[in-house]
Amino acid sequence: GTHETTVLVVGALHPHAVERIGKTFRMEKLGEGDPALITSDLAARVRGVATSAVIDGPFIDALPNLEIVANFGVGYDKVDAVYAESAGVMVTNTPDVLTEEVADTTLGLLIDTVRELPQAQAWLREGKWEGRGNYPLTKLSLRGRRVGIFGLGRIGKAVARRIEAFGLPIAYHNRRKADDVAYDYYPTLLGLAEAVDTLIVVAPGGAGTEKAINAEVLRALGPDGVLINIGRGSVVDEEALIEALGSGTIAAAGLDVFADEPHVPEALIDLPNATLLPHVGSASQTTRRAMADLVVDNLIAWFKDGAPLTPVPETVNVKRHA
Ligand code: NDP
Repeated sequence: GTHETTVLVVGALHPHAVERIGKTFRMEKLGEGDPALITSDLAARVRGVATSAVIDGPFIDALPNLEIVANFGVGYDKVDAVYAESAGVMVTNTPDVLTEEVADTTLGLLIDTVRELPQAQAWLREGKWEGRGNYPLTKLSLRGRRVGIFGLGRIGKAVARRIEAFGLPIAYHNRRKADDVAYDYYPTLLGLAEAVDTLIVVAPGGAGTEKAINAEVLRALGPDGVLINIGRGSVVDEEALIEALGSGTIAAAGLDVFADEPHVPEALIDLPNATLLPHVGSASQTTRRAMADLVVDNLIAWFKDGAPLTPVPETVNVKRHA
């Protein structure tokens, strides 16, 4: 039975996931994915990991009986899934259950960035409406914009459906053209940035997208340009973005994710044309609970019949040996 199966919770995890893992498996906890913290007892017993922390090759090697890493979150750039595959370890993530929530947040961030709604609210709360009059008219508007999506996957498509309802044209860049949409495809990110004035990043982190939004892409976006990043902080060259926002190379940016969370560079915080959120894309109670359930259901499905619900592409062919 699964009660004899040891699952290690690494780092902070949603309490509902912890509660269910505790009821279903023999649960152990570890502060972080550090191989030095693995005792011989853990090395002998641990067969599953549940986490949203960094899980690298040395940590996987320190757990010789590890079969599965169940990642809390659809983005699994903190887990070395390529190494896991080579070690015969399954990796799962939490797609779909957060898609619409994150798309909602993206549109909120876009409107806040373009129409300065957080600043307008601060104006009211600070008594300026009564004391000084109306909030200044915003320089930017969504009207007439052309939207580019970098990473037209599950969330990108949900964002695109919302943008369609806003009456704005959509183009996108992926490595491959998506066959289920009619939006304009650009085979390069630079080509997309040249064609639009509003760029929404929903691409995953990792080596393939590292600092893809660089000075050249920002220049191509242009002086009316708006950058929204809901994907991963690592996708944007933050130094180049700070420069571009300060010099007027682009007009504004809305960011939910940062290169070194939870640290946000002071230079970014000081910029009035940056709208900054503390990584809240999926952060409602309902959606986070659904993500927690999917983490645990992946573990249960794996140990029951070796068929997890949502394996990541890198490990889709990993099989249970025992
Ligand atoms: P999907 O895998 O469905 O979509 C990712 C898209 O990005 C695909 O269309 C893929 O197309 C494209 N892509 C991947 N790598 C590259 C590359 N190197 N160059 C160009 N395009 C690329 O993922 P989801 O839509 O479910 O999630 C997307 C990301 O959103 C997550 O990985 C996560 O980082 C982020 N996220 C952020 C949240 C937040 O709270 N801010 C919450 C949830 C997710 P192709 O394979 O053809 O290149």
